[in-house]
Amino acid sequence: MSNESGNSSGTSVSRVRGRVVGVPKRCWCGELVVSLMSKSAANPYRRYYRCAFAVERKLSNDNHTYKWVDEALVDEIEALTCRISRLEHTILAESVEEKKKKLAELEMKLEVEVFARV
Ligand SMILES: [Zn+2]
Repeated sequence: MSNESGNSSGTSVSRVRGRVVGVPKRCWCGELVVSLMSKSAANPYRRYYRCAFAVERKLSNDNHTYKWVDEALVDEIEALTCRISRLEHTILAESVEEKKKKLAELEMKLEVEVFARV
């Protein structure tokens, strides 16, 4: 039991056991996440994501991945919306920079040509 020594190095594999944003692909335990149908009276036919390991061992009240599909999809859409608007900003900023660069290059060429003619 006391064999576990304190980790001196700063690098540690972080396995998040909390909520995952969007659709979970893998549980923190490394097992794949599967989608299943709820058979409970409270949520009949509601689909949910579950850690395959927990399903196989019929675990309950554990901390393996468990998330409603509809909630996960709403999360996913929100995350995607954020990503898209961030990308749009990046693309717009880039294209403006590109145009400025090309304009500067053209001006240089023109200047050179004008000087050559004088
Ligand atoms: Zn798991």
